[in-house]
Order: sequence, then C-alpha cells, then structure tokens
Amino acid sequence: RMTSAEVIDLAQQHLTPNYTRYPVCLVRGDGSWVWDAEGTRYLDFFPGWGCGILGHCPPRVVEAVREQIGQLIHVPNTWYTEPQALLGQALADRTGFGGVSFFCNSGTEAIEAAIKLARLNGKPKGRYKVVTMTDSFHGRTMGALSATAQPKYHAGVGPMLPGFTYAAYGDLAAAEAAVDSETAAILLEPIQGEGGINLPPAGYLEGLRELCDRHGLLLMFDEVQAGMGRTGKWFGHQHWAVRPDVFTLAKALAGGIAMGGIVATPEVGAKLVTGTHAATFGGNPVAARAALATIETIEDEGLLDRAVQVGERFRAHFLALKDRCPLVSDVRIKGTMIGLQLAVEGAPVVQKCLDRGLLINCTHQTVIRL
Ligand code: PLP
Repeated sequence: RMTSAEVIDLAQQHLTPNYTRYPVCLVRGDGSWVWDAEGTRYLDFFPGWGCGILGHCPPRVVEAVREQIGQLIHVPNTWYTEPQALLGQALADRTGFGGVSFFCNSGTEAIEAAIKLARLNGKPKGRYKVVTMTDSFHGRTMGALSATAQPKYHAGVGPMLPGFTYAAYGDLAAAEAAVDSETAAILLEPIQGEGGINLPPAGYLEGLRELCDRHGLLLMFDEVQAGMGRTGKWFGHQHWAVRPDVFTLAKALAGGIAMGGIVATPEVGAKLVTGTHAATFGGNPVAARAALATIETIEDEGLLDRAVQVGERFRAHFLALKDRCPLVSDVRIKGTMIGLQLAVEGAPVVQKCLDRGLLINCTHQTVIRL
C-alpha cells in the first residue's frame, strides 16, 4: 500500500485543484472512526459531507451492497427492478402524502429534475421561473447553481440560467415580492445547510405554502441535507405542518452510496411523462438496495429518536460553551444537523480539531457544522 505522502503527491500531480483538501489520506472507516495508511485514527463528526448518516460502512448497507453487486449491478430504466420499486414505496410510505419518485445519482441532479418538473408543470400557464433563497445551496450543475443564491459560487462561470429570482431566506414578504405571473415554483431548503444551519422562522414555511396555493405555484423543498432522518424526522419539513409538492433527496439517501432523487405528489409527478427526463444510473439496484438498507437501519435502531437525543446533548454542551466562550455567538440545532456560529473565522478551529484527531466542517466561513 502507498504511504499517505505518496498518495497526496500523486493526487496533486494528476487531479484538478478544485477542492480544499487537508493533507490526510484515508483508507478505512468503521462507524464514527476513520484511519489513514499509517494507522492514525480520527473521530469523524462530518462523515461524507453528510452522506454517512449511519457512520462509515454501516453493516446492513455493506451486506446489501455485497449481495446485490454479485447478483445484478446495473440495468437501465428500460427494465424494472425490485429494489427501485421497493424504494419508491418505502419513501412514499414515509411522506405522509404518498408520492412518486424519480431517482438519479446526486443532489445537484435531483435539483435539475425538480427544476424541470416545475417548468413542465408551469408550461401550460406560461410559467417557468423559480424563486430561491439567499444563502441557499442547491448544487454545482448550471441549473442548480443558478438556483443557488450565493454570488461566490457564480463567480467566473456565468451567465447563469435565466428564470431564477432570489428572496431573503426567512422573509415571507420578500418571497411574495419575488413572485410574478411567470413564476412556476418556490424552491428552498427547509433548514439551510451549507448556508450555516439556518432554521426557518415561525410561520415561514406555512406562509410559503399559502403563497404557493394562492398563486398556483409548486412548493419544492431541497431535503438533500436535512432529509433521511438527520433532524429527527424522515424529512426536515415534517417538523412543520407543511406539505411540499416536490422534494429532493441525496447525500444520506443510500447510506454513503451515490444516489439522489425527487419525490413528488402523484399529481405533479405525473407531469414527468415519458421522454422528459432520465438518468442512466438512476435508481440502479445497488444504490436502491443500499437505500433500503439505510431506511431499515434507521427504523429498526430507532435512529429518528436517537437524532433528537444527540442534538439535545450537543445543545446542552454548546449552550454551556457559549456562556463561557465569547467566540461562540449562536447555537443552531435540529437533531443531528448541528451548527455552532462563531464570531470569528472557523478554519483555524477545523485545523486545531484535526491536529487533535477530530474531523469537523466549517461552512459559510464562520459556522462549525457537525
Ligand atoms: N442541495 C443541498 C441542500 C446540498 O447541501 C447539496 C450539497 O451539499 C446539494 C444540493 C448538492 O448535492 P451534490 O453535491 O450531491 O450534487
């Protein structure tokens, strides 16, 4: 096996430099722990950028993938497979409104599907625009990037796709002002992740639902980060009495295997008629089995309740920290979606934790995200 230094040197020669990488090369993971080639162990508080919701190599997911990969790796959506059908059912059973699913391979692709669905749904009325929120993050492909209302991500790669209007997150009046006769949908993360773990103010999501109903718009939630049990409910929006027309999933959906998807009400999902959309690997049996195993694990091990307990434990610790440390200015938590707002840059904190064997994330410059 190569040493960490050898791998890092090779990667720096042969990979594009688009990622901020720390000089750590990982070879193995188990639960909350990962190891490098030299045997150094790290405690991982941000597994897989949010994909490792069950930790590293969760046994049931590993077993399901092993079994499936020896049986049938991939067939296109020309054919039916049992794992994909069962996954559609498993998600529908947990939405509270049924729903139909389309599967793809990442969060940004899920957003592309949602944008397309909004346009297909709005087309008869001449509606194609999507209202999104400041500090949102929806992905890096051009549609999802245009939906992402953060100028730093648009720098140098414009022009953006037409048809996106931005409103301040949390400001209902701003959302209303952004709607016009060509608006097809409102798209937002119910709890913003990359933007700094921002929770919606009281009445905000309910107000957006009412706004959408009044204007005949789709309400679309990006659940890529908040979904799949992280916040203590299957989907983040279920903390509020608001039903979306469409929501997206990815990251934790398949317990660490690449997978994305959208769930739509049957009525809206029906607009994605034959030929309007596709993904070659979308819903492949390996990813679908991994997702089913993820759902079973969350259910059988009571992990929705566990997420709430973990969140409360961190809240108690971090509020105590806030009382005695002026560098901590706010604590924002929903289950295991945990944000610690600092009054200073977070990068040195990430480095200090790394030096002590703890992997954490800093987002939006000043928010420690676990
Ligand atoms: N939507 C949200 C809320 C996200 O947090 C992310 C990624 O961080 C994405 C979409 C894009 O997902 P992916 O990186 O899988 O394309």
